[in-house]
Amino acid sequence: KGFSHVNLNEQLDATLLMTQGEMKDRFVVVKDYDPELPKVTCNIGEINQVFMNIILNAIQAMHGKGTLTVITRTQRAAGRQKIFVEIADTGPGIPRELRHKIFDPFFTTKEAGKGTGLGLAISATIIAKHHGEIRIDSNESLGTRFTIVLPATQPLA
Ligand code: ADP
Ligand code: MG
Repeated sequence: KGFSHVNLNEQLDATLLMTQGEMKDRFVVVKDYDPELPKVTCNIGEINQVFMNIILNAIQAMHGKGTLTVITRTQRAAGRQKIFVEIADTGPGIPRELRHKIFDPFFTTKEAGKGTGLGLAISATIIAKHHGEIRIDSNESLGTRFTIVLPATQPLA
């Protein structure tokens, strides 16, 4: 219930459009989408909530200047297809000692009133419900990359 077959490239574009107001003039957005991306069976509102939170976190981490990279790709293995959505920023990275805490409800490093600390906790719950996973690569000199992995809708036999 509430699930439909969705092209995630379109949802990412919609989210990028909605966050344009947050991007300053020294922001660059690089998109590299798989034009053949298979559809995903998902709750569209929930998936957009995940994209919105991760993209806003990336923008906020860059403090007005940097490159936001959004990539989609497909991995085909053993007859099953997985979709990878990568959202990367050139911000300061996430210190190693904080990395295990960022999915905790109410964990935030943002000043009072700016962050609830709920975004990643909710995102993790939503992605788990969709049988997916969220991976993080973060490095103090390169920035942070979130990778969301979701199973593609299996074509009807
Ligand atoms: P909030 O955005 O309200 O702080 P989130 O759950 O979305 O809550 O994120 C929790 C914390 O994870 C942030 O406060 C920040 O410290 C860290 N974080 C998330 N994304 C990034 C990122 N792209 N770069 C650096 N830190 C990040
Ligand atoms: Mg957030």
